[in-house]
Amino acid sequence: MDKKFDVVVIGGGPAGYVAAIRAAQNGLNTACIDAWLNRDGKAAFGGTCLNAGCIPSKALLESSELYHRAKEEFSGHGIGIENLSLDLDAMQARKAGITSQLSGGIEALFKANKVTGLFGQGHLLPDNKVRYTPHGGEPELLEAEHVILATGSSPIELPMVPFAEGRVVDSWGALDFTAVPKRLGVIGAGVIGLELGSVWGRLGADVTVLEAMDDFLYMADTQVAREALRQFKKQGLDIRLGAKVSASEVTADGVQLSYDDQQGGHEIQVDQVIVAVGRRPYTAELLDPLAGVDVDERGFIAVDDVCRTTALNVWAIGDCVRGPMLAHKGSEEGVVVADLIAGKIAEMNYDVIPSVIYTAPEIAWVGQNEQELQAAGVNYKSGAFSFAASGRAKAMDHDAGMVKMLADADTDRVLGVHIVGPLAGELIGEAVVAMEFQASTEDLQRTIHAHPTLTEAVHEAALAVDGRAVHAINR
Ligand code: FAD
Ligand code: NAD
Repeated sequence: MDKKFDVVVIGGGPAGYVAAIRAAQNGLNTACIDAWLNRDGKAAFGGTCLNAGCIPSKALLESSELYHRAKEEFSGHGIGIENLSLDLDAMQARKAGITSQLSGGIEALFKANKVTGLFGQGHLLPDNKVRYTPHGGEPELLEAEHVILATGSSPIELPMVPFAEGRVVDSWGALDFTAVPKRLGVIGAGVIGLELGSVWGRLGADVTVLEAMDDFLYMADTQVAREALRQFKKQGLDIRLGAKVSASEVTADGVQLSYDDQQGGHEIQVDQVIVAVGRRPYTAELLDPLAGVDVDERGFIAVDDVCRTTALNVWAIGDCVRGPMLAHKGSEEGVVVADLIAGKIAEMNYDVIPSVIYTAPEIAWVGQNEQELQAAGVNYKSGAFSFAASGRAKAMDHDAGMVKMLADADTDRVLGVHIVGPLAGELIGEAVVAMEFQASTEDLQRTIHAHPTLTEAVHEAALAVDGRAVHAINR
């Protein structure tokens, strides 16, 4: 193996492996070191996203949604099923098959692009040297012109609800349950709490979600969050807001959780608990103190707006730096950094990063929401279109929710799009492209959308901004 590289990437998640591939595509001799070990002890590229995050959660969301629809909705379509059954082992095996296939895919892409993929631990030394320690092997010294740090994040543990094998788990543990819990407690009504709470709720668990904040989904547009909460409550998720957990006790038959809200102190007894209260940047044993890389007070590697750290030719991307902890944000930072290293012009548009929550209905947004525009004193106009008036949504039997569009009142430029409804995560792509190209609502109004599709709701929301929706009464 070469010991000298143009680029060494530490971390092989969606930020790191994408950076490595793009660097190699740019003609740079590149290595990517990754420390991930799966439960079976096998090393695998793909990081949290592929092994314990985005992909396995979406596999279970899909399976559980199909089960739920078969149970609750098929009869409405005139389809009767006798003896519907659930084989959780098979569901979990399908999930595992998808992740191992995709992780193998990264290895194949590394080979095709001539990236040197290395399993083990990377440690940054001064002067762009990297100590690489293979799993179970002896350390080696690598030299690099540039180093990209992409070591990701890890779940936050609550001191009053410490993790307890099988009983009190983080999101990875919650993806691996071998039986459906009868009573499931979820701490945190954020993205993970809602997605994984939905999975186990659809499969039959009684789910209680304890959220410390009084506002539900504070980061989403208030109107969209309100509609989503209504739908989740209808589905039976018991979401308790303003609930501050004070203590937990693991007992022989479950976990007792104590919490306080405005009414006073409460206790609930559940079988298992998922703690989903956020993630923190992961940089353990990564940085030699003399390497010159600063870390901020919250533990993120300090970077400028193009991901340069405080050390020359050392860059950092993904969850270990500021910004939303999203796979596509880290991947794009990886592309930008790999292009900059190759001497190309590149920049990251942090204003147009989509967010998606893969519940049913899905929630998706891009750009600013109404409360942010109000706080910033922007003169804006808005339009909304309800899926209840969409022929396609009706045909799908999923017509809850809406598309809401916000635009500058003076220039008509689209400032934000907020969706709660069927396939919102797919629909938001149109808004992302529109905003990246600085589109006006008139651009979207004059764009022909196929009929009958859900995208017509985006079209109608653009029309509604100017009071010209066709399939709704404009107020
Ligand atoms: P990671 O994916 O965490 O990868 C970092 C890698 O670096 C890991 O393999 C780690 O082992 C390795 N590493 C760490 N230290 C070292 C070292 N010293 N040497 C070598 N290797 C090291 N985001 C979305 O956009 N969409 C989703 O649907 C979504 N769903 C999620 C669901 C769950 C349950 C969770 C937990 C997260 C989800 N996320 C989702 C968030 C997403 O997983 C992260 O934003 C993303 O994985 C971050 O990518 P990364 O490359 O920065 O870090
Ligand atoms: P989050 O920040 O989305 O939500 C955490 C929630 O926990 C918040 O609502 C917070 O108010 C609440 N909370 C914090 N402390 C609490 C306490 N002591 N008691 C009760 N509630 C408390 O974090 P997450 O859901 O853990 O997800 C972590 C990261 O992973 C997020 O940044 C998210 O972007 C990413 N992720 C993304 C996706 C996706 O894109 N679909 C899916 C899963 C995870």
